[in-house]
Amino acid sequence: KLGNATAKAELGRATWKYFHTVMARFPETPTEDQQDALRSYIHLFARLYPCGECAEHFQQHLNKYPPQVSSRNAAAGWACFIHNEVNAMLEKPEFDCTNLGAFYDCGCAEDEAKGDG
Ligand code: FAD
Repeated sequence: KLGNATAKAELGRATWKYFHTVMARFPETPTEDQQDALRSYIHLFARLYPCGECAEHFQQHLNKYPPQVSSRNAAAGWACFIHNEVNAMLEKPEFDCTNLGAFYDCGCAEDEAKGDG
């Protein structure tokens, strides 16, 4: 049972890291197509998340707080907010959502300069 809880937490940490990094790298001024892609991605991500109980909770959060995809700031702020909803449910402290960009810097700035980020 402890092993299960540890594995679930490990999966959660790795996933959140990836999830927030996706938001931090989302275009600042996305096209309609990029906005649609992120919205679809988030819904499929929630549906396919490997921990079934988590997926169910997260889909309920999504129904209540639909993804914000109009800009990088909107997406990153929304993701931080929704993670804080999960934190609250699990009785974890609230995370400060300022400075997300620096916190989730993947070292991919070179790609952006080349225009493919
Ligand atoms: P985590 O919550 O994993 O966070 C990792 C790190 O991210 C933190 O150390 C902090 O640096 C940073 N962080 C924290 N809050 C934020 C924020 N708001 N914005 C940006 N960065 C932040 N576990 C369950 O037991 N039940 C569930 O129903 C459940 N649902 C989940 C749903 C999803 C979609 C995901 C990805 C995970 C879920 N988990 C669930 C796992 C849970 O959220 C944690 O990942 C796990 O408990 C480990 O917690 P942690 O304290 O190490 O920090």
